[in-house]
Amino acid sequence: MIKVENLSKIYKAKSIGQVDNHAINDITFSLPDKGMVFIVGKSGSGKSTLLNILGCLDDFDSGSVIVDGNDLSKMNHSDFNKYRSGYVSFIFQDHFLIDELKVKDNVALSLNIINNNDMDKVKETLEKVDLADKFESFPLELSGGERQRVAVARAIIKDPKLILCDEPTGNLDDKTTKLVFDLLKELSKDKLVVVVSHDMESARIYADRIIELFGGKIIKDETKNPAYSDKIAFDGNNIIIPYDKPLNNDDILTINSNLNNKSLIKLGEKQYKEYKNYNYNDRDIKLEKSRFYKGRIKHIAKIFIKRRFRKMIIISSIVSLIIACFSIFLSLLSFNGNSEILNKLKNSDQSEVMIRNNCYVEGDEETSLKYQSKLYSLLDDDIDYFYNSNYEGNIYKIYNYSLGYTGSIGMRNETFARPEVNLINYYAKESYGTLCCDKTYLEKKFGPIKVIKGDINDPKGIIITDYLADSLITHNLYRSSYDEIVGRYYISNVGYDYFYVSAIIETDYKEHFSEIKEKFDTLGKKNGDLRKVLTSDEFDKFAKEIEMKYGLAYSFSTDFLTDIMDIESTGYVPIRYSHIELDGTDYYIGQNASFCKTSTSLNHNEVIGNMRYINQIFGTDYTADTLDTFEPVTIKLKKYYDYSLKESQTLLDEVELKIVSIINSNSSHDFFCREDDYILFKNSAYINYGLMFDDISGACKLLENKEVNNFYIEDSNVKAIKLIAKYVSIFRKLSVLLSAILAITGLMYLIFYEVSNISQMKKEIGILKACGTAQRTISRIFILQQIIVSVMVVIISTLLSYLLIETANSLMISSIDKYANVFINDLTIIKFIPLNTIYILITTVIIIMASCLIPILLLVKVKPMNIIKAKE
Ligand code: ADP
Ligand code: MG
Repeated sequence: MIKVENLSKIYKAKSIGQVDNHAINDITFSLPDKGMVFIVGKSGSGKSTLLNILGCLDDFDSGSVIVDGNDLSKMNHSDFNKYRSGYVSFIFQDHFLIDELKVKDNVALSLNIINNNDMDKVKETLEKVDLADKFESFPLELSGGERQRVAVARAIIKDPKLILCDEPTGNLDDKTTKLVFDLLKELSKDKLVVVVSHDMESARIYADRIIELFGGKIIKDETKNPAYSDKIAFDGNNIIIPYDKPLNNDDILTINSNLNNKSLIKLGEKQYKEYKNYNYNDRDIKLEKSRFYKGRIKHIAKIFIKRRFRKMIIISSIVSLIIACFSIFLSLLSFNGNSEILNKLKNSDQSEVMIRNNCYVEGDEETSLKYQSKLYSLLDDDIDYFYNSNYEGNIYKIYNYSLGYTGSIGMRNETFARPEVNLINYYAKESYGTLCCDKTYLEKKFGPIKVIKGDINDPKGIIITDYLADSLITHNLYRSSYDEIVGRYYISNVGYDYFYVSAIIETDYKEHFSEIKEKFDTLGKKNGDLRKVLTSDEFDKFAKEIEMKYGLAYSFSTDFLTDIMDIESTGYVPIRYSHIELDGTDYYIGQNASFCKTSTSLNHNEVIGNMRYINQIFGTDYTADTLDTFEPVTIKLKKYYDYSLKESQTLLDEVELKIVSIINSNSSHDFFCREDDYILFKNSAYINYGLMFDDISGACKLLENKEVNNFYIEDSNVKAIKLIAKYVSIFRKLSVLLSAILAITGLMYLIFYEVSNISQMKKEIGILKACGTAQRTISRIFILQQIIVSVMVVIISTLLSYLLIETANSLMISSIDKYANVFINDLTIIKFIPLNTIYILITTVIIIMASCLIPILLLVKVKPMNIIKAKE
C-alpha cells in the first residue's frame, strides 16, 4: 500500500529569468497492493518524476510518501538500497543493461544483489520473456525489443512487491509491446505495477486505474477495475470491495446505506476490534538487508577490468615512469658525500683517517675552495657524521696549523740559502700538524714512549717529538734548550692559535737522518752543488716523508680543537696579517700579528705595539730606554689567502690601526688593543675541516703507492665525490623543484585518470545502484581494479626505477670522467634506494585507492536518477 500525501518536487530555477518548475505540485493519492496502475499525461507533466520518487531514485521537496509503513523521507542510503534491492524493480524506456555482462548475468544481477545466483531461475524468467535462446548473448547483440525484454526479466526475477515502469514499451514494436504488457498484467494480479505511459490505447486495455497528470497535478483519477482501487465502489447492483481492504465501522455504514436496508452487514466482533483503528500507515513491512552473492563481485569486477585492461597498462606505465624519474631525483638529492666516502673507507684497507682543519672564508666559498681544492671539505655536522658512523678504523682530528714560532716562519725560504747549517736541519721544517690521539696510537708509531722532558699527561698541552723540538732550537731565535721549550705557549705558524707544549718525546728520527745525510753528503760533494741536491725531487720526497712521520705534534685531549678555541676567549686574537701598508706602500712581512686585550685607555683603533715586534717588522732598534722616542704611526694590516704565493694574492682582510706607543713586554703578543676593538682584529677566516686519507703509521708505505701532495693523499674518488656533492648542492633547489613538479604531475595524472574513469563508469554505477546494490559492493567492484593497477605500478615502477637508476648512474660517471676529467672508480652516485621506492609506492597506492574511492563515496549521496541522467 502506497500513500502519497501533498507531495511536491520543485526544480529550482537555474538562471535569472527562469521560474521554479513545480514538477510535482502537491498531489495526494494512494495505491493498493495489487493491480496495474497507469500514470498518463503529456510530456513534461511530471510522470517520470513521480515514478522515480516512488522508487527512491529521486528525492522530493515536501509531502510524504509511505510505502507499507516505510516513510521514504526518513530512509537513509542503506534503506534505499534495501528498498531497491528487494522491494521494488524498475523498467525504463531505455533498458539500462550493462553492456559488458551477458544477458544471463544482467538478469542474474537482480538475484545476486539478494544473495542468490539461481541460474535455473534466470533461464525460467528469460523463457517467460521469450528469450531462452539469448541466454549467452551480450546486450549489444540483441535488438531493442529483446533488450527491453531482458530488462523486464531483470525486473521481475526477484519477485518484487512493486514494479515501476517508465515508458517500458516506448521503443518497442506492437508485438513486443503486447508481450511486455501481457506479462506485466499477469504479474499485477498479486503485485502492484505502476506504468508511466502516454500510450492511451494500452492504458485502456490494461489499466485497472488511470491517473492523469498535468503540470504536476492529478487532473483525473479513473478506476477502471474497482477491485484495484483503494475505495469501496458501487457498480449497479454490485458493491466492490478492493483486494485486501480492511473494513472499519465507517466502511460498513457506507456499504449498508447502499444495501437498501434489506439485510445489513455487520462486522464480526474480532475483526471490528482489530481494524477499528486501522491506519494504512501502520502496515509496516520491514526492509531486509541483503548480501551480494559471493564470487559474483569478482566476476563483475573482472568483466569491467577486461574492458579497461589496455588503459590500465598504459596508465600504470606512465605513472611508473614518473615514479622512476622521481626516484632518480630523490636519489640524487639524497647523495651524501660523507656516506660515500665512508663507504669507500670501509671498502678499502685504510685503517686510519685524519680529519684536518682548513681555512674557509664564510661567504666566499669559491676562493676558499680554490685554496683547498684537493681536500674534501667538512663542516661540523660532517665530522659528527664520521665520528658517529660505525667505521671500524680510527678517525683522528688533525689540527693542521703547524707548530712554529715567528722565527721559524722564514725557515722554509731560508733553508736553501744557509748551506753552512748542519744538513739535518734542512729537513727540519715546522710541525706538520697536531693530532688528537691516545698513547696506544703513539706507541704504535714510535714504540714505547720515552719522555725526554715534561709530563705527557698534562691535559692542557701538546706533546711534540724531539724532531720538532730540535727544529725549533735550530731555527728559533729565542729557544735554546728543551727546558725552554716545555711549559710555554707557541703560536702556530699561521698565527691563529696557541699551543702549550707539555712534553717532548724521543723518536728514532736521527737514525733515519743519518742514512740520508750520508747519501746527500756524498751526492752534494760529488756534484759540487748542494743546492741542486736540496731542490731535487728526491730530496723533496724525503723531506715530506720525514714530516709525515715525525712532523706531527700530539694531544691526548679528546677535544683538543675546542680547547684551542677556548684560548681565544681568554683574550688572545691570533691573526695572520702578511702585509703592512705604510705610507701607501705594501710591505710583505710574512708574519703573524697577535692581539691581546688591554685595560689601558686607548681610543678606537689605537693599539700599543710590542717593542720586539715593532723592531722586527720596521727594522728599528728601540730599546727599553728609548721607548718614549716612538712616534705614533698609522698602518694597515693586510691579510691574504696564501701569503707565500705573492703573485696570486687575494685580499682577505684589511684593518687600519694606529700604533700610539710601544712597550717592552715579554708577552708573545704583538699588539695590545681596546677590549671593544678586539672584534675588529678578529680573524674573518673560519675554520672548517678537510678529510685526509692517511695511514699515518705507514706513511712511507703510502708514499710508495700514492701521490702525496701537500700532505694529503689525492684520491680521485674523493675529488669526484666532492665535485658531485658540490653540484648536488647547487642543483638541490632545482632538483627539489623538478621532483615536486614530477610528483604533482604524477599525482594529478592519477587523480584525473581515476576520476574520469569513474565518470565513464557512471552509467554502470547508476544501474547497480538502481538495482539496489549496496555501496560496499560497488566500492569492492572498483577496488579490485585499483588493486590490479597498484600491483602493476609497483612491479613496473620498481623494475623501471632500478633500470633507469643504473643507466643514469653509469651515464653520470662516464660524463664526469669525460668532462670533468675525474676518474671514478667503483662509485655509485645515484643509488636504488629500496626504502625510497617503498615510500613512493605506498603513497601512490594510497592515491590510487583514494582517487577511486572518493568519487565513488561521493556518488552515494547522489540519487541514482541523477547519476544515470548525468551520463546522458
Ligand atoms: P514526464 O516524465 O512527464 O515527461 P518529467 O517528470 O520528466 O516529465 O519532468 C517534469 C518536469 O520537470 C518537466 O518540466 C521537466 O522539464 C522537469 N525536470 C525533470 N527533470 C529535471 C531536472 N533534472 N532538472 C530540472 N528540471 C527537470
Ligand atoms: Mg518521462
